[in-house]
Amino acid sequence: MIIQMAKRTLSHTDLRLLWKFAVNFGLKGMLSVQRFKRRIKRGVWFPPFLYISITSACNLRCTGCWADVSAPPRHLGLDDLNRLIASAKRHGNSFFGILGGEPFMHPQLLDVLAAHPDCYFQVFTNGQFLTDDVAARLRALGNVTPLISIEGNEPVSDERRGRSNVFPHTMRGLETAVRHRLITGVATSVCQNNIADLLTEAWLDELIRRGVTYVWFYTYRPVGPQPAPELALTPEQVLRVRRFCVEMRKRKPIGIVDAYWDDQGHALCPAVTGISHHIGPGGDIEPCPIIQFAGVKITDNSGDIFKTIAEAKYLADFRKTVASATRGCVVLERPDLLRELVAKHGLRDTTARQTALSELAAMKPRTSQHNPSNEIPEEHWAYRFAKKHWFFGFGAYS
Ligand code: SF4
Repeated sequence: MIIQMAKRTLSHTDLRLLWKFAVNFGLKGMLSVQRFKRRIKRGVWFPPFLYISITSACNLRCTGCWADVSAPPRHLGLDDLNRLIASAKRHGNSFFGILGGEPFMHPQLLDVLAAHPDCYFQVFTNGQFLTDDVAARLRALGNVTPLISIEGNEPVSDERRGRSNVFPHTMRGLETAVRHRLITGVATSVCQNNIADLLTEAWLDELIRRGVTYVWFYTYRPVGPQPAPELALTPEQVLRVRRFCVEMRKRKPIGIVDAYWDDQGHALCPAVTGISHHIGPGGDIEPCPIIQFAGVKITDNSGDIFKTIAEAKYLADFRKTVASATRGCVVLERPDLLRELVAKHGLRDTTARQTALSELAAMKPRTSQHNPSNEIPEEHWAYRFAKKHWFFGFGAYS
């Protein structure tokens, strides 16, 4: 499978972009995790991966979205973004996830990417702004992969994303990205109305045929002002997602990403392990994108993000308290515990809508990726090796 995947990637992607990916994400990413491991041995927690919501503006209105897309848009300014990235780079970070809203609606996104040629950026996008001009700029920069979200077939996409013609418009963006030989990914938050269409071998084969390099499967989180809990998966369906990823990794020449399980199939929460944290469009530092509470901002300590995160007591308490409660998602399994942490540390509701606490109070506990005694270990050596060394509990659960 690896040779097939290498052949496919080499034939579909610009070699200069592959080199940038291999160095800025692969090599430097691995070194940043090694530095992270050494730091936590000294009791210093600063994540090697930061996910940054650079804007809350979006042209779609997805069910289950936590970003304040209906409120007046908030953007992180170019100076703040450059200072944040430069500060993290000083501690070995080279990979950054760029989220929104819709990041391509941020007027200075391309300037941020251009300002850091020594880094690698994964832009989480609905694909609707991936025009020929934009794709040509991304190819010229070479340090960015668009991860395009597809949430269902045509009718489901319109229903789920609150607009019409969503699917064909997104697929046009995907086709443009591939045609410009970008390393292109497709992300799906698997839920009740897309699992039958998108968690299938046929869909993976379709993406392979279209030149997609990798896919990322999440499981739906019923959060935000329109949580639609009826879309959430059952425990059996979450296991099906896991089993499908493990099985297809052995057989399909396409990269398959998940952020919920280690090499042994034990569940984990990236925010609890400390491998990643989130920066909101207001500059707030949150455990993860769907936990919209914070006590510190990127502008604290004159923009020294390392000092601010390493000294943030609520992040340390979040990691310790949640790890002792579950290996799964605290938002789903223990919204009560999260409310206690918010109250204990006097955390700010970071949303423009100021309803995050009442949304949390209305949440009913449900299962997540943690399903003890139903662990499914990785079966492909490459994924087993990568997870064993660079994506596991990092001691948070022991
Ligand atoms: S709290 Fe839940 S959504 Fe957030 S990183 Fe952890 S598992 Fe993921």
